[in-house]
Amino acid sequence: MKTLFSRILLIAIFLVGVKSNSQNNPNPGYWQQHVDYTMEIDMNVETFQYQGKQKLVYTNNSPDVLDRVFYHLYLNAFQPGSNMDMRLQNIADPDGRMVTNVGTKENPIIESRISKLKPNEIGYIKVASLTQNGKPLEYDVADTVLEVKLATPIKPGEKATFDMVFSAQVPLQIRRNGRNSREGIDLSMAQWYPKLAEYDFEGWHADSYIAREFHGVWGDFDVKISIDRNYVIGGTGYLQNPEEIGHGYDANKTKGPIGSGEKLTWHFKAPNVHDYTWAADPDYNHESLQVPDGPMLHFLWKDNPETNENWKKLQPVTAQLMQFFSENVGKYPYEQYSVIQGGDGGMEYAMCTLITGGRSLNGLIGVTSHEMAHTWFQFLLATNEGKHEWMDEGFGSYISALAMTEISGRTSENPHLGSYRGYIRLANSGYEQPLTTHSDRYDLNRAYGTAAYSKGAVFMAQLGYVIGEDNLKTTIKKYFDDYAFSHPTPNDIIRTAEKISGLELDWYLIDFGQTTNTIDYGVTSVEATDKGTTITLDRKGLMPMPIDLRVEYVDGTFEDFYIPLEMMRGEKPTPESTKVLSDWSWANKSFSFGVAVDKSKIKAVTIDPIKKMADVDDSNNSLTLVKDDELKNKPKIKG
Ligand SMILES: [Zn+2]
Repeated sequence: MKTLFSRILLIAIFLVGVKSNSQNNPNPGYWQQHVDYTMEIDMNVETFQYQGKQKLVYTNNSPDVLDRVFYHLYLNAFQPGSNMDMRLQNIADPDGRMVTNVGTKENPIIESRISKLKPNEIGYIKVASLTQNGKPLEYDVADTVLEVKLATPIKPGEKATFDMVFSAQVPLQIRRNGRNSREGIDLSMAQWYPKLAEYDFEGWHADSYIAREFHGVWGDFDVKISIDRNYVIGGTGYLQNPEEIGHGYDANKTKGPIGSGEKLTWHFKAPNVHDYTWAADPDYNHESLQVPDGPMLHFLWKDNPETNENWKKLQPVTAQLMQFFSENVGKYPYEQYSVIQGGDGGMEYAMCTLITGGRSLNGLIGVTSHEMAHTWFQFLLATNEGKHEWMDEGFGSYISALAMTEISGRTSENPHLGSYRGYIRLANSGYEQPLTTHSDRYDLNRAYGTAAYSKGAVFMAQLGYVIGEDNLKTTIKKYFDDYAFSHPTPNDIIRTAEKISGLELDWYLIDFGQTTNTIDYGVTSVEATDKGTTITLDRKGLMPMPIDLRVEYVDGTFEDFYIPLEMMRGEKPTPESTKVLSDWSWANKSFSFGVAVDKSKIKAVTIDPIKKMADVDDSNNSLTLVKDDELKNKPKIKG
């Protein structure tokens, strides 16, 4: 048992640790805005409407004078005719969760669920009053964005206090948030409060909520939620009054509420986050598990004899996942993390995730792994998800695949093969758009999904091929150390990789991250010469790459070769047995080299045998001179 004093000391050290990391970004001249939220929420679980009071203390760390600010009122998306509704009606492959087929299987007629919401089923946030330092403000609502004209411009380095009174209604669960989900979760409260839009070196990001995720201002949250006493809440932040609440949060782990009165007021604090999410249901089971040298894990799921066992088995695996990510990316900096059964498939939030619960154990572990991985890739390394969707979905998928391989005890030379296949299929389909596309403006959801998740994961996995796996591991940790608690950009990951590896890598970000150029290399010929054999490769695709090559001999041995890419100005570390050849410049379409071996002794020549290079046509990656069934007729090579 820890003494109370040592606990307080630990918590104090911890909070200081989190604080001192804020605005941790080594880029010269980097700045980021800061906002502290204080909110009081009163929820009516009969109508699913709530009243809110919000105080923001906003610090303008930018070098600019601000005469406007913007808030997101995300819940307004769940209204007929909203931008989200119109996009849903116009896209060729709408999200299945958001539409209903009112036709037949053969002749589907797809209807937007948002378009059918009745007045008591829509979502909204209505602003009743808004002041800046006590002065009333003028504002307009455009779809999900509140446009606010300031009474007094905020100068660089100045603070302003905004007080808002608002009322809101939780929509029927359609996407991410809502009430009364299919699994019976009463309240999934994501993207639910008036949220200040981010202003950064690229200006305002007051994006309308059309489909995708968020970019937020770092700050501290102090949130009080009053709700019927039998509701259990899970979410962002540390509960300040567990002994008044109970529901498993108190020292005695009381099942059910402690306090009297019809409602309990839950008081949470969350330091240094850029979002705040919660969920509530009267039928949640709540269990917790301490991760050694890590946070307290909370599990909240709807009591159900069919899934209870899976939710129990999920708990120790979640602790392993937490440890894996902490060791391989960077130490989890908060005191708690909650896995909560919510209304949507799975979505990452600050210190928690909301996932659907009616899953197989493997399904539960898979989604928890992916969403928890986002704690690092987007939450702590807070890239703008609208602009760089591949840095959160892709990098999250990459590290999650490694974690899943590790905890399953399997070994795999390439745990990312599924991502490679998905990307290559997209690249060959004609539907690919570059990763620079805003996540809301892909022509198809499919093209968004494969680009963000699969190509993004390949970006990272293939970077390991380019700079070497050990360099990649160090790069990921250094990227976390340098950029956690800030808003890194694509250049930051590639510059980190350059500094770690000593290689020039801008070409990699440009071709793979900003264009749809593809990789296609081929083995063209293997020719007998006076001195042995000449092997010739061709570059057929536009994207340059360094080449790993294996020459297999008929006696069962092989030799590995490495062809450095001239524009990298160096080589990745290779094993001593690998022969490093001369540089190949991108402008030359062909590359030839000689081996002092008779052609008759060569069985096959293969580019990248581990398949970590995302070559879109691997039919020409290997040239086989002697097939396996012809081998027995070949004489043995000895000595
Ligand atoms: Zn994701």
